[in-house]
Amino acid sequence: MIQRPRYLNKLIDKQEIRPFTKIQDSFVIQSGAAKRKENRGGSMNREETSVIRKEASVGREALDGNEALVSQRIIQYAEELAPVSRERRRDFHRYPEMAWYEMRTSAIIAKILTELGYEVLTGRQVCLEGARVGLPAEEQLRKHAEQVLRQGAPAEYLTEDMKEGYTGVIGILRCGEGPVVGLRFDIDALGLAEDETPQHRPYTEGFNSRNPGWMHGCGHDGHTVMGLGTAEVLMKIRDELHGTVKLIFQPGEEGAKGARAIVAHGHLDDVDYFAGTHVAPDDGSDDGDVTPGSWGSLASSRYDVYFHGQTAHAGGFPEKGRSAIVAAANAVLNLTAIPRHSEGITRVNVGTIRGGTGRNVIPDEAMIQMEVRGGTTDIIRYMDEEARRVCQAAAQLNGCTCEMISQGTSDSQESDVDFLEWIAGILEKDLPHLRVSSVHNARNWASEDISLMMNRVQEHGGKATYMRSVTHMASAQHTTAFDFDEKVLTEGIETFSVIVYELLRKQQERPV
Ligand SMILES: [Zn+2]
Ligand SMILES: [Zn+2]
Repeated sequence: MIQRPRYLNKLIDKQEIRPFTKIQDSFVIQSGAAKRKENRGGSMNREETSVIRKEASVGREALDGNEALVSQRIIQYAEELAPVSRERRRDFHRYPEMAWYEMRTSAIIAKILTELGYEVLTGRQVCLEGARVGLPAEEQLRKHAEQVLRQGAPAEYLTEDMKEGYTGVIGILRCGEGPVVGLRFDIDALGLAEDETPQHRPYTEGFNSRNPGWMHGCGHDGHTVMGLGTAEVLMKIRDELHGTVKLIFQPGEEGAKGARAIVAHGHLDDVDYFAGTHVAPDDGSDDGDVTPGSWGSLASSRYDVYFHGQTAHAGGFPEKGRSAIVAAANAVLNLTAIPRHSEGITRVNVGTIRGGTGRNVIPDEAMIQMEVRGGTTDIIRYMDEEARRVCQAAAQLNGCTCEMISQGTSDSQESDVDFLEWIAGILEKDLPHLRVSSVHNARNWASEDISLMMNRVQEHGGKATYMRSVTHMASAQHTTAFDFDEKVLTEGIETFSVIVYELLRKQQERPV
């Protein structure tokens, strides 16, 4: 039986959060099959899973009739979608697209959502003009726009805005009066050359990347598919929903580029409940299939820094030159020397350095790509200011100038404990074949620009959580041999669908 975590008891005792009667009841509801699964541990094959799914739908006497019926329908729909989900994931995996290049991906999402009957926002309706950071060169975008048509992008959905790098799609489903639920799915890929050896399943099964140097190496192809499957399931149960659903397909999560422009457009301003997830490895700290919340992502700030100097003959007139490489080198050393902060974690890294044109030429151009991170928004402000000061000072020291171009920022993030506990409860009740991790609110160490969306929702009094969808992985995220067990697609669709259903069904007790 799942125990209510001690810290939740404390919060309820202190009346900091309202106990949810329905959810507390659900802690005692558990089918025999789910118990069996809990005892065995380990992963199941699909056959076993579907037996458990069937058994899970029996033994729900404690649920009222319609409620049991709807969650059963959700499980069934997600299961029926499994082959489609797998195909979609492999198609997105085959054609990965980095930040602001997600034109094929966006056009396909827009097509599917439109055909399902969603109100669909694309292009400048999604990302505010002027608010995108880390944009590729126009020429590169134009080339990619031509390429995606040869890669099967639906031409009628590939808008002029998308061709300019206004990627990302929002699907809206309005079901009358009620709260607004926002879900976020990131859609971009990484700059990584995918493994092409017989050990790598995407290669042997023919769905490895066709875009050289780009790869879905973080699982966002899976997130995209979870979003599309959830859209489909919610449309089938729309008569049960009372409120509005916003499905946000976000470009450019890697490098924290995309969320800011969506937040700036105001899309999160009316969201009462907000959730997102990331696939996570089953050999990490998460011991279930779903971890309902996480906290502590590091705030981050990233820059491309250009140093401009003066070229000269290195032997003939060195005094007339101003070396951009020396300026960049000074910046690198002194960025690393930014003092730590007493109030929390800091990070700094210079990831690339380039410069110069020839051995005997004083270099007039150099460039570094750097990032700083911090445990809180205050600390990142400090790190950001120091980084700017160091780069400017290094340039000045060597008679150069320096230009810093932001490539993305993220804040630190906290999931709402009452909301994530409420989710843990509804997952136990509606999806007993899934195990909820024993630590409901897990620590994050990376950075994530979902934080910007969560913070906006929370600033307006809404509730937000960032979950984990646990799955077996062939290799760690951001490595060339990354791949994951596709059963997580179905689990993700079920998870998001029951969360929305439970938030928007009639007479629901919601976290307040
Ligand atoms: Zn990633
Ligand atoms: Zn990711």
